[in-house]
Amino acid sequence: MNKNMLEKYAEVIVKVGLNLQEGQRLFIAAGLNTAPLIREVTAKAYQNGAPLVTVLWDDEELKKIRHQYAPRDSFEEFPEWVARGILENAERGDAYLSVTGLDPDLLAGFDPELIALELKTRAKHYKPALNLISNGGVQWTVVCPPTPKWAAKIFPDLSEEEAEEKLWGVMEKLCRLDYDDPVTAWQQHLSDLSKRHDYLNKMQFETLHFRGPGTDLKVGMPKDHIWKGGSGKTQGGVDFTANLPTEEVFSMPHKDRVEGTVHSTKPLNYFGNLIEDFSLTFEKGRVVDFSAKKGEETLRKMLESDENAKQLGEVALVPYYSPISESGLIFFNTLYDENAACHLALGSAYRINIKDGVKMSDEELDAAGVNDSLIHVDFMIGSDKVDIDGITPDGSVIPLMKKGAWAFEV
Ligand code: ZN
Ligand code: ZN
Repeated sequence: MNKNMLEKYAEVIVKVGLNLQEGQRLFIAAGLNTAPLIREVTAKAYQNGAPLVTVLWDDEELKKIRHQYAPRDSFEEFPEWVARGILENAERGDAYLSVTGLDPDLLAGFDPELIALELKTRAKHYKPALNLISNGGVQWTVVCPPTPKWAAKIFPDLSEEEAEEKLWGVMEKLCRLDYDDPVTAWQQHLSDLSKRHDYLNKMQFETLHFRGPGTDLKVGMPKDHIWKGGSGKTQGGVDFTANLPTEEVFSMPHKDRVEGTVHSTKPLNYFGNLIEDFSLTFEKGRVVDFSAKKGEETLRKMLESDENAKQLGEVALVPYYSPISESGLIFFNTLYDENAACHLALGSAYRINIKDGVKMSDEELDAAGVNDSLIHVDFMIGSDKVDIDGITPDGSVIPLMKKGAWAFEV
């Protein structure tokens, strides 16, 4: 990677991702192995007038060391002040940037039960902060810059160093950093996505029907569901882009109205453990049967995370012909892989995906079909062999995607 590319990346993060406002503080949670990018982002933020940038550093080697040596009954321990700090920052309106460069195989071979318990503990403590942030409380952005171990997983024939260099080359395209003016390129792309979700919002399909190899799935949509994609808005009306890169338009399924079977089209990296080639069968919205060629035990643990982990919280449409998909790579990282293909998520729905969702009580959300869970795990179900129809309330069938490409004009 060269300095110029890092600078462009940082500019896209600060201006398109966070859309950092005059006088707004920035809080960053980052892996140590992403420090060069964090320094550029910090510089851009201050140049943009941020009065304070703070970073909470993490180190993936330390995660591993915990699983190697910590007492087996200690995985419910959590530093409460960290979660309180993130909540406090969000409450005072600081923008939130999460930068991770996790080795997909980091925790391979460690006890899936303890991995699940650690994640569950973390999710429980983070929930108030993440609810506030992800429901439009502040602008937030997630990015995953190349790191050596991750790059070597994608390009196993290269050394870590060569692989990282090559991955930066790929990233330049995926993050549109190869444009002279990446910020304008992003704004055009985001406007295309917004036309797609405007159409879907107008149509208010009752059901989406997915068909492909191993897949025949009807996903019921709740009344007044909202499609989002590209950039979002905080409750205060500030635009931001939560994921960079992003290619998806997404909404929430009705948690009790999903029927049929769906087959994954890409491996799912569940915090360092891979689940591959898996199928889920739904009845009345809940997973009633599942199988996986690899990682079945991790899948089972994930589905048992809590009461509602077996129900869906997201449905997303992504054309097969997009930069990430066209790279032909499997990234073993949800941020990239989810933007390569149509996907579903098990677990929590985003309240922003239903009208008045942020104002509804828990009972009202439940009655509207909105899923609530400690997990939100995306898994890929799209490919160039998948067709999707939208079924309107009066029963007409409208093709939305054919063989992975958009089938409607905007
Ligand atoms: Zn998504
Ligand atoms: Zn998701």
